[in-house]
Amino acid sequence: MKTLKSYSLLLFSYFIIVSFLTSCSDSDDSIVTTNNLTQTETEALLFMLEEEKLARDTYEFLDNQWALAQFANIKLSEQSHMDAVISLLEQNAVSYNVLPYGEFANSDLQGFYDQFITVGTQSQIQALQVGATIEDLDIVDLEDWINEIDNPTIIAVFRNLQCGSRNHLRSFTSALVNLGSEYVPQFLSQQEYDEIVAGNNEQCNF
Ligand code: MN
Ligand code: MN
Repeated sequence: MKTLKSYSLLLFSYFIIVSFLTSCSDSDDSIVTTNNLTQTETEALLFMLEEEKLARDTYEFLDNQWALAQFANIKLSEQSHMDAVISLLEQNAVSYNVLPYGEFANSDLQGFYDQFITVGTQSQIQALQVGATIEDLDIVDLEDWINEIDNPTIIAVFRNLQCGSRNHLRSFTSALVNLGSEYVPQFLSQQEYDEIVAGNNEQCNF
């Protein structure tokens, strides 16, 4: 009886040690298999989530200011862009935080938002200029990240975000032309901008 008890205790200890080792090796494996992004890729996703949020939140604000179809339609597209980035963050077990409307963790993006809503309140033309500026910035920022990363899944998503942004840029600039104004690119080169605006509306994945 005494021997059996000691044996049970020994067996019990063995199970504890084995399950401890197993749980350690499991968690090591899960770190390797669920988060295989480089630091730059993680930064790219977290930054672009907030930049898509900058577009969504600015258009939400301007949609409430002006009766322009562009803001009502494009803000929904920006939500789908945020969702696409969130899906990549979740697939890779990267924790993220979406702040309330108009609030940004990145101080540059907060500065842009504050400036955009001030300018966009002045007139319909200024509001559409803000829209074109956001799309201009977005296309160039996405291109810069694409040049810094190798992950083909992220690159494919970013290419789709650029596709949407080119359509949005065409929409804002043609509305400006209809109101007798024009947009001058601030981030894209004049040649890149001219090529986009001359192109037809594209079918993007989201
Ligand atoms: Mn977008
Ligand atoms: Mn856009």
